[in-house]
Amino acid sequence: MDLKQFVTVVPDYPKPGIQFKDITTLMDNGEAYKYATDQIVAYAREKQIDLVVGPEARGFIIGCPVAYSLGVGFAPVRKEGKLPREVVRVEYGLEYGKDVLTIHKDAIKPGQRVLITDDLLATGGTIEATIKLVEELGGVVAGIAFLIELSYLNGRRLLDGYDVLTLMKF
Ligand code: AMP
Repeated sequence: MDLKQFVTVVPDYPKPGIQFKDITTLMDNGEAYKYATDQIVAYAREKQIDLVVGPEARGFIIGCPVAYSLGVGFAPVRKEGKLPREVVRVEYGLEYGKDVLTIHKDAIKPGQRVLITDDLLATGGTIEATIKLVEELGGVVAGIAFLIELSYLNGRRLLDGYDVLTLMKF
């Protein structure tokens, strides 16, 4: 299946010059959403994944159906102040300023093989921060899966040494 036909490219959103890749038109098509999920599930089976971890909010949309299909758990990575119990946190750089991501301290057991999921790899900052959280808790990042990779931003350079699956490249 050619998944690209289900992605809507929205010019100049959220600001001039950005070509926003809207995946809601993929998600609301049952066949396309299932096909994309099944590709990631097959990849995760090869990597013998114990747990799926994804950053809010679109990392949940990709990761939760994968975890359900594998019969493993899902642990959310969220912005600061959103998780109710003890967390570990990481600061990461944005184009302007910084942001913080957190995960519950007991979300991962040391040695668990983790699949990280998100909708889109842009600069790689979000995923680099998520990797740090997983590794700080003793998880092994056994794979990273995205629907979309923006090759021209070269986010892959931050993921050297990790196994990365992307279903579409722009
Ligand atoms: P980054 O940390 O730069 O890799 O950015 C990753 C996050 O920003 C992804 O989880 C996307 O949800 C969002 N994002 C960045 N650029 C785009 C884009 N052109 N279209 C849609 N989402 C984007």
